[in-house]
Amino acid sequence: MTQFEALGLSAVILKTLETLGYENPTPIQSQAIPLVLEGKDLMGLAQTGTGKTAAFGLPLIQHLNKGNYKPQPKTVRALILAPTRELAKQICENLNGFAKRTPLRISMVVGGVSIGAQIKNLARGTDVLVATPGRLLDLVERRAVDLSTAQYLVLDEADQMLDLGFIHALRKIAKLLGTPRQTMLFSATMPKLVAELASTYLTNPERIEVSPSGKAADKIDQSVHFINHQGKQELLKDCLIERRDDLSLVFARTKRGAERLMKHLVSCGFKAGSIHGNKSQAQRDRAIRAFKKGEIRILVATDVAARGIDISGISHVYNYELPEVPENYVHRIGRTARAGAAGQAIAFCSPEEFHLLRAIEKLMEITLDAASGQRPERSIKPARKAKGRSGNKNQGAAKKFRTKRDGPKGANSPKPANNNRPGKWRNRPKKKKVAA
Ligand code: AMP
Repeated sequence: MTQFEALGLSAVILKTLETLGYENPTPIQSQAIPLVLEGKDLMGLAQTGTGKTAAFGLPLIQHLNKGNYKPQPKTVRALILAPTRELAKQICENLNGFAKRTPLRISMVVGGVSIGAQIKNLARGTDVLVATPGRLLDLVERRAVDLSTAQYLVLDEADQMLDLGFIHALRKIAKLLGTPRQTMLFSATMPKLVAELASTYLTNPERIEVSPSGKAADKIDQSVHFINHQGKQELLKDCLIERRDDLSLVFARTKRGAERLMKHLVSCGFKAGSIHGNKSQAQRDRAIRAFKKGEIRILVATDVAARGIDISGISHVYNYELPEVPENYVHRIGRTARAGAAGQAIAFCSPEEFHLLRAIEKLMEITLDAASGQRPERSIKPARKAKGRSGNKNQGAAKKFRTKRDGPKGANSPKPANNNRPGKWRNRPKKKKVAA
């Protein structure tokens, strides 16, 4: 008996797993599959890359494949909600793989693409619908879909859905669903709001956790460069040249910042692309496809766009700018070291970002190793106000820099305040353009 068989999976599913090359269950699959098969509500605290899609997807497919039920026109038997189009697409692809030997219909509805085709597709009835909340509500309002007979609900990456402001949409959708139903909620982190959401949606849930809240996969080697903002581009290019054969994901804080950085890298000869909210779905898909094939080796992304993308070969994740929300660091570095592979997460921390690094380290209960530069003893206090010409012009500029949504402006960025404890931060000399 294989380990998957011991979990209670049916012969049809076991055969499919063999084809997919899944030999043994991951820890979250071992814990979740028997519980979901028993019909329990589930709260799973798990990072991306742990195999959680199969943890809920395999037993869900098995449930739905029992009996000879066919969905009525415009109805849905199981609903899976995901925060982003990329994640929805990935879940849909995975589920289609799991359901290969079954007659189940799996569909996806996400924003950014024509709604007409989705309306037509839903008209036939759907066994599993993977959706982003906004587009789903749009379709409900157009009476293209009726959720009242849905018996299964999965909320995937719940923390990110809340970060994206989907709480009202989720509340609306929950009211439209049938009861009784089995509900599963997965989240990489468990901030208060997610715990509240779980208590509203789940009935006597079983709680499973594959690694403690906020902790990254053990296989990720994490480090931080303490570097002034102006030196980041040069440092990044050095790192990328050193590892030119690797696949690197670079996180920027803003859409414009990501685009600017990508263009700069391309102008220096690097094969880079970008994904962020200002790109159309087709452009994002193209960039991800090129990255997966290795046609581009560097993908510059913002948090939202990179959410859920599953690219197995990413060896390096660069936090070119640290995230404002420390939980996002966990999500970002979860893009590497997927399915047991090793990976490196490299953060670039400027003086203005030190408080963000501290928040990340507090959440993860670790201290990142310094790869270069020196860790300061304390945070640099933001200047309260620019004071005329009294020499503190830079402090005012630094404040503007910190609060401005657009983020840093590359080489033209304001210099950090002069009280930066000189020598602690790595200043990199300006270099000529390099070809990669
Ligand atoms: P997920 O966390 O669901 O996004 O899965 C991350 C990656 O691990 C995906 O590429 C899956 O195909 C892969 N994966 C999930 N479960 C297994 C397994 N039991 N054996 C091998 N690969 C797996």
